[in-house]
Amino acid sequence: MKKDNDFASVLLAWYDREARTLPWRTTPTPYGVWVSEIMLQQTQVATVIGYFERFMQRLPDIQSLAEVSEEELFKLWEGLGYYSRARNLQRAARLIVENYDGLLPNNENELRKLPGIGDYTAGAIASIAFQKPTAAVDGNVLRIFARLYKDDHDIGDAKNKKHFHALVMQVLPPRRAGDFNQALMDLGALICTPKAAPKCCDCPLKSFCMAYGDDCVNQLPVKSNKISRKIQQYTIFLIIHQEKILLKKRPSQGLLAGLWEYPNLEGILNATEARFFLQDKGVAVDTITPVGSAKHTFTHIQWQMNGYLVKISKPLPLFGGTWISYQALKENYALPNAYQFYTALLDQLFAPKDKQMTIFDYQNE
Ligand code: SF4
Repeated sequence: MKKDNDFASVLLAWYDREARTLPWRTTPTPYGVWVSEIMLQQTQVATVIGYFERFMQRLPDIQSLAEVSEEELFKLWEGLGYYSRARNLQRAARLIVENYDGLLPNNENELRKLPGIGDYTAGAIASIAFQKPTAAVDGNVLRIFARLYKDDHDIGDAKNKKHFHALVMQVLPPRRAGDFNQALMDLGALICTPKAAPKCCDCPLKSFCMAYGDDCVNQLPVKSNKISRKIQQYTIFLIIHQEKILLKKRPSQGLLAGLWEYPNLEGILNATEARFFLQDKGVAVDTITPVGSAKHTFTHIQWQMNGYLVKISKPLPLFGGTWISYQALKENYALPNAYQFYTALLDQLFAPKDKQMTIFDYQNE
């Protein structure tokens, strides 16, 4: 491998030529860098761009983020998933207003004290927004360094994070740490990609890369898969009365806390069981129509769902829920991605007549 300092300057020269144009890079502010980094956790850049622009237009600064209602915040976040990120952003904004005169702290230690900011995000904000000489080590960086150094430490094992962090710090150029970290982000997204063959021929670092030199790129990184997911099964009810849909709010603690959802119960019921269940609850069911099953995978849980469209004649108060119009649902209520399949069915159902699907044409059970 060539000298480490050459490696950093070659990477920076490549970044100066090839950096992606992204809205949070055009006129960077600490607030914009922070919001973008939180949105980019678990979400692709292409998806984040539109969300980021809408978010910054509506909530252009920390004060406005601290003051916005949770309903509106979740609506801005709807579709990005992992809503705890939005909730933590707002909690952090309120703390910043209270304790830091409304200014994002400029060093890693203080940043790490804020909700939703871990080691990686603190490093990214400190280096990009405040030019601090610090690393931001995420999955991209672990993969790139495992390949560059032909390093077979397991990147899936949290214990090895320190080891890779130290490797990055050895080569990080203190004066351009933010650009260096962003160059690694771009390299990981565009060239040194996961799984699918990385584009080594186009890589500015190929003459430094030990895995490339020894023809073992496909064997790296070593990553154990330690995630075991719990399966949870639910029956979902899309309960409709005329133009209104029944929604209920999830508890204020735990998974998807405080978001709206369709009434549901744990376990998978067949149509007869579902009808009996609803009748036992006092629901006068006109029709009940199976609308299919869907899955949603969270980090440690997988939901397996089976849904029914239920038409009822009396909009009684049910399941502690609220009756709302389809239009209000689309404009004001944030539903988790987990229900996307069922929300798409409602979109079809309430579409203009000539574009409607045949959901009402299904045989009623
Ligand atoms: S040469 Fe290939 S494996 Fe090595 S850093 Fe570049 S893209 Fe990654």
